[in-house]
Amino acid sequence: MTDRLYYTDSFLHEFDARVVAVTTDSSGRSRITLDRSAFYPSSGGQVFDTGWLEIAGVRQPINEVAEDEETNEVLHILEGDGSPFQPGAMVRGAIDAVRRRDHMQQHSGQHVLSAAFEKLYNFATVSFHMGDESCTIDLATDSISAKQLQAAERLANEVIAEDRPVEIRFATTDEARTLGVRKIPPAERDKLRLINIQDFDLNACGGTHVRSTGQIGCILVRKIEKVKQGMRVEFVCGLRAVSTARHDFESLTEAAALFSTHIWEVPQQIRKSQDEIKAAQKAQHKLLEEVAELQAERLALSAPERNGHKLVVQYFADRDLGFIKMLAQKLTKKDRVIALLACGGIQPSLVFAQTPKMPHDMGALMKEAVQALGTRGGGNRDMAQGGAPDGDRAESAIAEAAKKIT
Ligand SMILES: [Zn+2]
Repeated sequence: MTDRLYYTDSFLHEFDARVVAVTTDSSGRSRITLDRSAFYPSSGGQVFDTGWLEIAGVRQPINEVAEDEETNEVLHILEGDGSPFQPGAMVRGAIDAVRRRDHMQQHSGQHVLSAAFEKLYNFATVSFHMGDESCTIDLATDSISAKQLQAAERLANEVIAEDRPVEIRFATTDEARTLGVRKIPPAERDKLRLINIQDFDLNACGGTHVRSTGQIGCILVRKIEKVKQGMRVEFVCGLRAVSTARHDFESLTEAAALFSTHIWEVPQQIRKSQDEIKAAQKAQHKLLEEVAELQAERLALSAPERNGHKLVVQYFADRDLGFIKMLAQKLTKKDRVIALLACGGIQPSLVFAQTPKMPHDMGALMKEAVQALGTRGGGNRDMAQGGAPDGDRAESAIAEAAKKIT
């Protein structure tokens, strides 16, 4: 089985090894097994290392590292030509040190944060996920208050500031139980690998970790959300926390500039703007009602009287569906009015309506109109609406429908 060099040294970035086997995966990529490796394969929530394998002076990129589920071997997945990697050949491996440091900061940070939640509130961590941008832990609790979140973040950062040593230890499962390990994995193993954060946390883990908590840099808790197994806490550590905070700051600065205010005043400004928009919408609605009322009066007066009803046929290039519906309602409150209305704008539409209890069928009339236009629409006997491909065709559709009113 692959001798996992990162087990005892997370800071080993280069190593020599011998090729044990080469297989091909379903996508035709070569999977190289070595007798020893510093590459971390995806497991336990931590994502894989990337890097290079050098053979006969040629460096080949390793873009993925996985664990063979059956044999437990570490598989180095190669994008390039796998033919030089014959069993027995010597290679030099190098991992991407920047990526590894980032992973160590996230993973060690997770141990500290999980321990902080456990110590303060007895919230056990049930799972850990490391993403490309942020990390999450799921805690076994139904709720977390903002105060609890801040207190756990504070304690975690204090532990980082204290720069406590982080050591790797090995113990049997029985020994681990007596040591008070935070979470013992269910699978029975000969030796458990334990990560000990001095006088703060002891946990079974196969991941790569910092030498002391100061190397984590800092922890920034982001958001919480309810999930099936409890509460999910999103966080970022170390240099990721810095780049995330920088991104947040730039977004806030841009928002603050739009309001000509300080970044801390942005929420207050947004609330103020929302209130202003609501008030403006209310005022606009009231004005439109008044305009519709006036229009209804004018149109009803000028509409020709035919067979005992008044027929209003009108196209509005700059009004919207909401307005012509409002107008149709006002017109059909009057005695024996048929209104065939259309509008242009971004959503060209038709509204057909009649004063209730008149003998026509607006729904059927609309069905015919939209069928001819190739759009959709419908309604009941007294009121129907539909779409039009453009303003011109909406206008001609109401003229067409008017011809069918006898
Ligand atoms: Zn871990």
